[in-house]
Amino acid sequence: MKTIGLLGGMSWESTAEYYRLLNQLTRDRLGGLHSSRCVLYSVDFAEIEQLQVEGRWEQAAEVLAEAAGALESAGADMLLICTNTMHKVADQVAAAVGIPLLHLADTTADAVRTNGLRRIGLLGTAFTMEQDFYRGRLESHGLEVLVPDAAGRSTVHRVIYEELCLGIVHEESRKSFMAIIGELVAAGAEGIVLGCTEIELLIGPEHSPVPVFPTTRLHAEAAVTLALTDVL
Ligand code: GLU
Repeated sequence: MKTIGLLGGMSWESTAEYYRLLNQLTRDRLGGLHSSRCVLYSVDFAEIEQLQVEGRWEQAAEVLAEAAGALESAGADMLLICTNTMHKVADQVAAAVGIPLLHLADTTADAVRTNGLRRIGLLGTAFTMEQDFYRGRLESHGLEVLVPDAAGRSTVHRVIYEELCLGIVHEESRKSFMAIIGELVAAGAEGIVLGCTEIELLIGPEHSPVPVFPTTRLHAEAAVTLALTDVL
């Protein structure tokens, strides 16, 4: 079994999910007392969030690149950046290590395509919904990406940072997300990418009329598959 390197803490609420999923999926596949061989580097999210707000992405990239190096030194065979947003600096992080980076947008796009869908709605932080680093990567896989209107984007962004990253799940916010999903579906979305690793703490398949793509689970599944094969 290969060792999975998790670059987490962004936020730890979703990193805890990664850890639970990696272990559950490994046990499901191998049975008995099997669990995931993994190492975790968990950052102080307040520092990263401050750099995001100030637009200091180069500095954020340096922090994450150093953490990635530590994971490699600790024996990780592959690297997962456990947040969609920080894939904005994925290239810089990947360049700092000799182990492969499992890009979250790639694993997500693979799942969408495997389901035979092409036009998807994307929910995530404002960075993820509005900038090209994530949308563009999905589009490079042949997907068409729809995002909520300005008011919807602002709601989704606020709920992520003010609630979900703090472990707060409000029924009212779930209703807002369901309304936003409804608008995306009305605009033609055939599926909804939960493109922030905390959104699946709020939204499940039962809250959407079309399939949802939970990026934390999809990332964990792809990592376990890789860890249990001889591909690397
Ligand atoms: N975990 C979130 C994501 O997947 C947001 C937190 C962050 O800014 O990294 O985008």
